[in-house]
Amino acid sequence: MTLEDTTKTLAMSQEGSFPLHMTEFDLNLVVHKGVMPFEQFARRRWATANFPPVQGLDVLDVGCAFGLSGLHFANIGARSVTCVDISALAVGNTAENAVRNNIDNLQALQSDVFSNVPSGRPFDAIFWNAPSRLDPNTNHCGEEPGREIIDSEFLVLRRLLAEGPNWLTQGGRIIVSLGGNNSADILTNIVQENFLECSTLIRGSGEDGKACTLIQIHKPFDRANVRFDQSERLTKRARNVYPAGVTRVSIGTIPIQGMSDRLSIYAQSGEGARVTDVDGNHYVDFHNNFSTLVHGHRHAGTIAAVASQLERGTSFGNATAADVDLAEMICERVPAIERLRYLNSGTEAVMFAIKAARAMTGRTRLAKLEGAFHGTYDWAEVSTRSHPGNWGDSPSSIAPYRNTPAHVTDDVVVLTINDVERSRNIIERHGSELACIVVDMLPCAAGMMPLDESYLSMLQDVAHKHGILLISDEVVCFRLGYQGASAARAFQPDFVTLGKVLGGGLPIGVVGGKKILMEAFAPQDSAPVPQGGTFSANPLSMAAGRAALASLTAPELDRISALGCYLREQSEAAAAENDLAISVQGAGSLFRFHAKKTRPCTYREAHHNAMESEILRRLQVGMLERGFYVAAPFWGSISTSMGKTHIEDFLNAFRSCLSEIPEIKEFCNRSAP
Ligand code: PMP
Repeated sequence: MTLEDTTKTLAMSQEGSFPLHMTEFDLNLVVHKGVMPFEQFARRRWATANFPPVQGLDVLDVGCAFGLSGLHFANIGARSVTCVDISALAVGNTAENAVRNNIDNLQALQSDVFSNVPSGRPFDAIFWNAPSRLDPNTNHCGEEPGREIIDSEFLVLRRLLAEGPNWLTQGGRIIVSLGGNNSADILTNIVQENFLECSTLIRGSGEDGKACTLIQIHKPFDRANVRFDQSERLTKRARNVYPAGVTRVSIGTIPIQGMSDRLSIYAQSGEGARVTDVDGNHYVDFHNNFSTLVHGHRHAGTIAAVASQLERGTSFGNATAADVDLAEMICERVPAIERLRYLNSGTEAVMFAIKAARAMTGRTRLAKLEGAFHGTYDWAEVSTRSHPGNWGDSPSSIAPYRNTPAHVTDDVVVLTINDVERSRNIIERHGSELACIVVDMLPCAAGMMPLDESYLSMLQDVAHKHGILLISDEVVCFRLGYQGASAARAFQPDFVTLGKVLGGGLPIGVVGGKKILMEAFAPQDSAPVPQGGTFSANPLSMAAGRAALASLTAPELDRISALGCYLREQSEAAAAENDLAISVQGAGSLFRFHAKKTRPCTYREAHHNAMESEILRRLQVGMLERGFYVAAPFWGSISTSMGKTHIEDFLNAFRSCLSEIPEIKEFCNRSAP
């Protein structure tokens, strides 16, 4: 039955066409007269279809009407569903539908919000489909045909948010489906009155074209009662299977206050801007898997695209339409990419760009910026472990691991970030031997200092003069512009490497460039550089990447960049107010904190001594203990699932770290020159 038919028939309730029979979500349903205002039907259907996964959860559906949402949740694997409605008619109708569909993990109760819900029973999710109109000024009780005396809907919302948190499991949340323009403001006010936090899960529109939003509301991170039992158990198990107890050195373990051992925080799930750990603690996620999740967790479009691909298979010994779709999108969007090849990681993307540059120039050596990280291809890794004990007077080629072959370090010429004259001289000296210069315009590991305009134009001039190819590594900084970072900075590279956000949260690497240079990978059988990979262009990454990229619009990028700018400025202002030597580097929606009075502009300036590293570590853990997850030592990114309130919350937590963690002030004073 189409929505139009349904709403039309529901509208005819006054004309006595009930009971109505319909099939929704594969459920065979009967709807009795007066159990549900027909104008709410489109949004309820949308909210039910877009509700986060309920498999294995205990769910409460408040105001269940004829049971559409609750029955669907029960049917798709919720552990239990409790449906309540103030109307006995609605409760009877829901119970009848449960029987019709052989659903036995659902109970229907007559209850005025929580009044008759069996006490002591916590829920993972409490759902309420709000009416279209939420008016705080109509606090009267009213009557509807076929229904008992009802609370005004506004009062239901007040009770839901005042009493609801007591009915939630530790990681539980209240999910409200809203329509109408002023509803979100009304809801936000009540959320704040109750010292709760809320965020938007998904926005869309029902089949009637009206706006719909699912908002999640949860208790803030409770520092006094936080537990890490499950993470502790997993950390112990991991020690028996991984060297140093971790499988990604970049994630590592953290020293939480009051815990005898360092701990890895194990993730359970994510939703929008929020990640939940295995103990049910929630964090606002500014880590986003090292900036990969530009839309936060479970971005609806991406999940739908991956789910649809999953239905058709995970990988093939064939090409798929999905890879061509994404490639067309990238070529259209990034001016420097006329042709591309897919890989599985940023590391491989950089590796193949370097190999192609070697093949096309007939040279082997390369230049890179001191301290810049480009993944773990030997040559690209050189100098990432430079420190005052080994770096000498001028930028030096430091081996990345023990017993690196000497020719690897000999092959790499290291440049000082933002030092135009020194770098120009070095490149001039080695010009005729260099195949390429690998550049990241916002080198995160080196300190996330934006490269100066004059530095970029020097690189371009001198590379051009000596026939050296420029590789712009945009694995992280792609998000600095709609067309990528190089286009945003008017930089004209020969190759561009991409990763992270391009895979929508799944593994990906992309090497792209001018058509003539990408001939390094052609023809198929006797290419100068053979390139392939079992999982390259895997259709799941392709589908996810396409959905994520399609949602990464210019206005959204501008919006999160403005939030990034605000976060950096306000964090620095908070540090200055406290007279603390803390500065924040970054650009767009990316930020990196430094325990330095002024923002460092080179790798050496950004290098932290033991005391400075300790300040950042305390801040990172302090933020975690206040419910904010950032990458170590202290950097992060803003996702499109965030709004101004996430940034304000972050800033409040940061201010609280500055004033409440005495060691920060003490160490800042000690480390200041
Ligand atoms: N290039 C840059 C600039 C990076 O930051 C990284 C990793 N963060 C890489 C390349 C390597 O990417 P991956 O971890 O996907 O191999």
